Amino acid sequence: MRRVCCICGEFETQSRKSSFSFFSIPKKHGLLRANEIQLVERRISAWNAILGQYLNRHYGIQCVCSNHFHSGKPSYLYLDNDVDWVPSKNLSNLQQHEESGIENVADCSLQSEALISTESEMVPNSVPGISCDIHCEDSNYDKNYNDTQLHSLIEESKKLKETIGSLEEKLKKEKLINRITDNDKMTKFYTGLKSWKLFLVMYKLLLPGIDHCSLSTKRSLQTEEQFLLVLMRLRLNLSEQDLAYRFHISQTSVSSYLAKWIDVMYIRLSRNFMVWPTREALRKSTPTYFRNKFPGCVSIIDAFEIPLERFNNLLARSSTFSFYKGRNTIKYLISVTPVGSISYISQGYGGRSTDVHITLDKKMLL
Ligand SMILES: [Zn+2]
Repeated sequence: MRRVCCICGEFETQSRKSSFSFFSIPKKHGLLRANEIQLVERRISAWNAILGQYLNRHYGIQCVCSNHFHSGKPSYLYLDNDVDWVPSKNLSNLQQHEESGIENVADCSLQSEALISTESEMVPNSVPGISCDIHCEDSNYDKNYNDTQLHSLIEESKKLKETIGSLEEKLKKEKLINRITDNDKMTKFYTGLKSWKLFLVMYKLLLPGIDHCSLSTKRSLQTEEQFLLVLMRLRLNLSEQDLAYRFHISQTSVSSYLAKWIDVMYIRLSRNFMVWPTREALRKSTPTYFRNKFPGCVSIIDAFEIPLERFNNLLARSSTFSFYKGRNTIKYLISVTPVGSISYISQGYGGRSTDVHITLDKKMLL
């Protein structure tokens, strides 16, 4: 007798090689170990819940074809959490059968007749109608069983959704940016800005520049977090790797964010915040004690040096070597007003340049 899929009716023939594989419905047999018996029993009832009412719908040895397993075959007996522990794919045929009830009855009686004529010893009842009634009672029993199972699955899915929701909430709270928001003390510690409001003002000022230069790039971090990362780097001098671990991104991303944001900060902040004050503004803002001591002072200048890595190019290496620091540096001239705000920063000079050269070059004293 040919093997047939009791769900979709696909059957095995000798003349054509079927593209489906066929799997027997689990049975209890004598070779089982003690710990396997319970599992097998559970599996049999699970399969029955799905297939029970549709068994013997198609003539042949009742099997399930590979079309109803996600991996193409049933999972191993011990993997009872696996989706393929029972047939779970392409079961829509079942529903169609259920909906077309009238056809089912006709089909059912035809099937029964076929079964009776060929296997009369297996089906003692020779009246098709009675055999169909028995079938229907079975159907009701299995339907109730399915309903209970469905109900418990719905309950379980509700619980899982709640768990996911609470975990998402927890994860949100764990994010540094969410902990800093509205916490001025933390904002001050991590960014140097005195409040979260100030952080947002600065962020909004810089954002158009960032949006403009990152239209085509894929972001792994929200722009607000990128700005926080950059400020943390500037404030705490954290290494790129450290920031990568804190923000769960790669070091390459940290590096590219720093390069991008610092460029935008230079362009947008230097214009807005670094202004040379007017004499009137200076007169009003200079502290009295300072004004009495240094009445004509408009700015205090100094050159500062930032260490560099050694260049491979010999000319670049020698022009950036600072004898004063004993290593390669880049040098800037900075000017602050008597009240302490930065009013000017020069372009970069090699560490070899003297302070006098830079000052005269920028004609600061003229
Ligand atoms: Zn099938």
